[in-house]
Amino acid sequence: MSAPSLIVGLTGGIASGKSTVARLFAQLGVPVVDADAVAREVVAPGCEALQAIRARFGDQVLSADGQLDRARLRALVFADESARKDLERLVHPHVRRIMAQRLRAADAPYAIAMVPLLLETGMQDRYQRVLVVDVSRATQLERARDRDGSSSETLQGILEAQLDRDSRLALADDVIDNEGVPQDLAAQVERLHAYYLAMAARLRAVPQQ
Ligand code: ADP
Repeated sequence: MSAPSLIVGLTGGIASGKSTVARLFAQLGVPVVDADAVAREVVAPGCEALQAIRARFGDQVLSADGQLDRARLRALVFADESARKDLERLVHPHVRRIMAQRLRAADAPYAIAMVPLLLETGMQDRYQRVLVVDVSRATQLERARDRDGSSSETLQGILEAQLDRDSRLALADDVIDNEGVPQDLAAQVERLHAYYLAMAARLRAVPQQ
């Protein structure tokens, strides 16, 4: 078994189509590690991060069965910058460590780290390529509303906290355009897959420092 020689950071705004794109890569056999899923794992009962959150925020953030009450925690940190920073400081190192372990353990030429807030958290330098799934704001709002049933107000709030489209595109190495129908994605994913395989082979031949 050998670790991937290339890790691609996959990102994009809410409802841009990251999960849909990740599934297409996974169907081609590419290992995908999802930062949101890892972030949920590290706050499971018995985990160090949950104990640290409890010590910082108190029992009010636990539900009766000892699980993290995510909605309650979100409400607590929503308007409190220092509380949000504390929460990130308690959770992010665990997420980064587990992501790195899983990516290293993947047995494939290249792997994908799906990180919704990759650019917002300045983590792009951890990955050799940044792949952005791009859609217009109007499309984002429409798809997020259809998927989550969220109110426009909630969605506007989420969008405000994320990078705007132009800033995100400026930081992208590669872009998938998801403004069209889902069927348009497959060809773009296949083209990038071939490109990443070639890049991974080159990187393996000339290992990076
Ligand atoms: P993300 O992971 O970025 O939040 P998803 O992949 O979950 O986004 O996509 C958001 C929603 O939009 C989902 O309900 C998905 O099925 C839908 N969707 C994704 N791509 C398209 C598309 N090209 N056309 C129509 N709906 C789409």
